[in-house]
Amino acid sequence: MKIAIIGVGTVGSAVATAVKNTGCVHEIVLFDRDGTRARAAAEDLGHAATFGFDVNITAVSNYRGIRGSDIVIIAAGANQRPGETRTDLLAHNADVIADIIPRVMANVDARHVKIIILTNPLDVMVMYAQKISRLPSARVIGTGAMLDSARLRTILARHLGVSSQSVNAYVLGEHGDSSVIDWSSITVGALALDDFCRQMHIHLPATTRNTITHRVRNAAYEIIRGRGATWDGIGAAAADLVRCIVNDERRILTVSCVSGVASDAVAMSLPRIVGADGVVASLRPKLSAAESAALRRSGKIIRQNYDSLS
Ligand code: NAD
Repeated sequence: MKIAIIGVGTVGSAVATAVKNTGCVHEIVLFDRDGTRARAAAEDLGHAATFGFDVNITAVSNYRGIRGSDIVIIAAGANQRPGETRTDLLAHNADVIADIIPRVMANVDARHVKIIILTNPLDVMVMYAQKISRLPSARVIGTGAMLDSARLRTILARHLGVSSQSVNAYVLGEHGDSSVIDWSSITVGALALDDFCRQMHIHLPATTRNTITHRVRNAAYEIIRGRGATWDGIGAAAADLVRCIVNDERRILTVSCVSGVASDAVAMSLPRIVGADGVVASLRPKLSAAESAALRRSGKIIRQNYDSLS
């Protein structure tokens, strides 16, 4: 299993480390327009591989080096500076995607390759990459709200006093400021959230839920303020998605891919079954009226941002 990572900055390096540590790939190639940076990352990661899974990690100086890749991960482009939103990156990163995708497509097997998008604003970049690549939408996938869902599960688990592994909670819609928390579907173990709280005598009033929503939506801003960028969470999310595809696990992940038709088509995060062929099926959770309206609004924002590119 060969994985190519395009863009080996803070995020690309963290993704390479996390993918290497899954043990489910035998080769990782790194490409960055800054060749020195890619070579240095490959060198450092190669040393790290001595202490774990034996993965062949090399930097490549042109796109021919990605030939034979089963999955191509795009982590190139500008990141947010403190105070910037993901949407502020739109025009610049659309140019980056337009530069990269045709070169990728000229060097991969379009019948099988899966492209994973990490570049922000995530959902718009998924739409743009899918359009340029002409791949089926099931095989151009953004990590989307996988990371936001992990943030929600972590915060909620701490509040409830259980492991985050026992909290099934999904963030939907945009990987951005209009993301929607699907409070209606949250379960803790086999219990609905409200039942769990009742049995455990835990108070979870609307004000606390609003605070949790705010913390999930603003997690990236807080991390960027504190350490300049985010990388560990997205590295782990991307590696988890790779593992799910490589092992054909068919887990339900809140990933982003284009669905809908023509002008209604939009990429956003929904719970989707992911396997060897990419997104196998998309699921529509049962939402409250307010959550449904918020999800429609989120889709409109993504679509408007995408339309602003043309
Ligand atoms: P960074 O500046 O550290 O690295 C970006 C790298 O991309 C640089 O090494 C640069 O040389 C390379 N690059 C730029 N244009 C290129 C091109 N045309 N071809 C090849 N390489 C190119 O930035 P970062 O912190 O690694 O962030 C990268 C992207 O990931 C940003 O868009 C950021 O917003 C996004 N991100 C996404 C998530 C998520 O949850 N999806 C989380 C964190 C960051």
